[in-house]
Amino acid sequence: MPAYLDNAATTKPCDEAVSACVAAMTENYGNPSSLHKVGLSAELAVTDARKAIAAALVCQPECITFTSGATEANNTLILGAAENYGRRRKKIVVSAIEHPSVEETMKHLEKSGFTVIRIKPQKDGSIDADEFVDAVDHDTLLASCMYVNNETGAIMPVKRIFNRIKKLYPECITHCDAVQAFMKLPIKTADLSADLITVSGHKVHAPKGVGAMYIRKGIRIAPRMIGGGQEKGLRSGTESVPLISAFGAAVRAQLPSIATAYSNAEELNLRLRKKLAALDYISINSNAEEQCPYILNFSVNGIRSEIMLHFLESKNVFVSSGSACSKGAHSSVLTAMGVSDKAADSAIRVSFSKTSSGGDIEALVTALREGYMSLAKRQ
Ligand code: PMP
Repeated sequence: MPAYLDNAATTKPCDEAVSACVAAMTENYGNPSSLHKVGLSAELAVTDARKAIAAALVCQPECITFTSGATEANNTLILGAAENYGRRRKKIVVSAIEHPSVEETMKHLEKSGFTVIRIKPQKDGSIDADEFVDAVDHDTLLASCMYVNNETGAIMPVKRIFNRIKKLYPECITHCDAVQAFMKLPIKTADLSADLITVSGHKVHAPKGVGAMYIRKGIRIAPRMIGGGQEKGLRSGTESVPLISAFGAAVRAQLPSIATAYSNAEELNLRLRKKLAALDYISINSNAEEQCPYILNFSVNGIRSEIMLHFLESKNVFVSSGSACSKGAHSSVLTAMGVSDKAADSAIRVSFSKTSSGGDIEALVTALREGYMSLAKRQ
């Protein structure tokens, strides 16, 4: 049995998602815009999925718009907010450890005249709420902060940050990339004080290529995709009924067991930490006061990430080097936290899902020990 411990990169679609996807391709194959009953049935499937995502975020289904994933959602929300609200206010405050789909969008906006203030993480990988809020002022059109960092699992004080921003500067739009928190930590849109939220399907046991954005009522987002006016004009293009149905089914199936899955991840995380603490060549990079237990990042002294990753792979253990998105490039998140270049170069990210087990931990630790013995000799 492979030990798949790269669930922050992507998860295996669950049975419910696969069945829903197949049903939408074999039986319910209509176009939701068609006026006949085949179309209506497809539209109902999309409506049903929208309700499931809304239930998970505790919001009205009308606030949910489907996209091709979190990258599209982040792009649309940030660029769309800048287009509608950025005529006079030109300042954006963002954490310095966002996913590239946020960070690169910020760079794009800088080129068109926006000022982007990036709040660096503290040594433990989390963002200081006071520092973030202090950077916001009446000229700030958007504040964007992720919920859980995808490389370290550090939980950001988004609730505190956004609550205070909304009290001090109600006109400032708040956006949260909640991809790594969704279906792991309980998220209530009202408590979060977020105007805009991004989530992705393939991190929660749905297929790749589907995501959703929450847009609070009253917030106007200029669309990126223009055409037939689907999704209330926010995202033109025929809805991917199979992927959307699968997303809805995956979320609906897991919603009742979020707390149980969290406890399982917590137990596995603790167990792995204890075992790693006994290995003097390993240093843990996930040390925030508030950590999401689904992600654990550590460095293996003197062994480059990719070398260790491939050794682990040869033992049927699958992890990530820092972050899968950076494809082996130096982790800017660890560097921003003050982790040395050497330690950042040897970072391994382990990430759990609801199906991870103690057996996976045993396989990982055995392979890590063997890997260190065999690779350290050759260095
Ligand atoms: N934001 C975060 C925090 C992520 O971890 C990811 C996926 N690595 C994304 C956005 C992009 O998601 P998607 O693959 O759905 O575009």
